[in-house]
Amino acid sequence: MKFEQKIRRWYLQNKRDLPWRKTKDPYLIWLSEIILQQTRIDQGMSYYHRFSQRFPDVFSLANATEDQVLKHWQGLGYYTRARNLHKAAKQIVIQHGGWIPETYDAILELPGIGDYTAAAIASIAFGKPYPVVDGNVMRVISRIYGIDTPVNTNKGKKEILQKLQKLISPKDPGTFNQAVMEFGALHCKPANPDCNTCIFKKDCEALKKNMVGLLPRKEPKIKTKKRFFNYLVLIDKGSSSTEIWLSKRTHQDIWKNLYEFPGREDSTLWSIRKLKNKLQMGGIKNTEINISQPFNDYRHILTHQQIHARFFRIEAKEEALSNILSALSISNSIKINAQDVSSYAIPRLIDRFRIENNVF
Ligand code: SF4
Repeated sequence: MKFEQKIRRWYLQNKRDLPWRKTKDPYLIWLSEIILQQTRIDQGMSYYHRFSQRFPDVFSLANATEDQVLKHWQGLGYYTRARNLHKAAKQIVIQHGGWIPETYDAILELPGIGDYTAAAIASIAFGKPYPVVDGNVMRVISRIYGIDTPVNTNKGKKEILQKLQKLISPKDPGTFNQAVMEFGALHCKPANPDCNTCIFKKDCEALKKNMVGLLPRKEPKIKTKKRFFNYLVLIDKGSSSTEIWLSKRTHQDIWKNLYEFPGREDSTLWSIRKLKNKLQMGGIKNTEINISQPFNDYRHILTHQQIHARFFRIEAKEEALSNILSALSISNSIKINAQDVSSYAIPRLIDRFRIENNVF
C-alpha cells in the first residue's frame, strides 16, 4: 500500500475531533491555523471558540478596532499574529470583496501568512496540492525516509518539501496534509514514538538504521537574549478611587500596541536605591513619593527572548507621578481607573503579575 493510502487510513481511524476539521470555511480554517502557530491545541481551542464567536467572518474582523482584536487575543501571546489577522481581513475586504483568495500565491500575499499557512489554507479549504511542512511533518518524513539534513536549515526543509510533493494526494491534499501532521502529533512523537505498533515499521529508514532518536537532525539553536524590564505601578494618592498609569508600547518590538505599566528597560533589574537615584537625578524628592519594596521578580519566556521583570509600587500625588514619567522619559502614558485595567489589551506577563499579586 502506498504511503498516501496508509496514512489516510490511519488518519480516518485515529484523528482527533476538532472543530476546525468540521468546516470547509476558509476563514475558520485560516483562523485555526494562525491560533495554532506556537500554541497547543488545548490552549488554542477556547480562543478559537471565543474569537470565532466574536468575529465570525472576515467582515466582522475587518470592521473591528485593533484594540478589540487584541483584547480577544489577550493571553495567547505572539500578538503579531492577531495584528496581522486583522490587517489581512481588511486587505481581503478591500482587494477581494471579502472572499479569501483561492490560489496559494494570492493567499501568501496576505499579512502574517507564510508558506505553511498558505499551504494549509490552499489544501484544506480549496483542495490545492500544496504540502504543509511543520515540525510534526518534518519529523515523520525525515524518519520514514531517513533524511538527515538538519531540518532547521533551508536545505533540509527543501528536501522534505520535495519528498512531500511526490507523496501528496492530488485528489485530497487537505486530508493528506492533516494526516501527516496528526500522525506526527499522536504517533511518531518526538520522544519514544511507538514503533512497535507503527503502520510504517517495515518501511521506516530511521527504525531500520536505529536512528529514531537522532532524527530529525537539527542545527544548534540561536542563543536566547535576556532583557530586563523595570516597571512602576504608579498610584495616585490624591484620588478618591484608585487611579493608575498604563503605557502603550508603540515601537517596533514585542507587544506592539499593548499596554503595560510605565517603566524602563535596562541592562539589569533596578534596586530601590538605583530607582531612587534615577528619580533624584530627575528632580524628584524622596519626600514627595512613597516607594514600597519591589514585588517578587518575574521571568517570562518568549521565542529567543527571556524577559526579567521587577515591579515597584509608588504612591504619590498626581503631579509627582507625572514628574516621575518625565524624569524617566516615559511617553504614551494614560491615567485610568484601576478597575478598568482588564478592558485594556495587556501582555500576559503584566496580567500574571496583576492577578498573582491581586493588585487591581
Ligand atoms: S517506525 Fe517509529 S520512527 Fe518510524 S514512522 Fe513509525 S513511529 Fe515513527
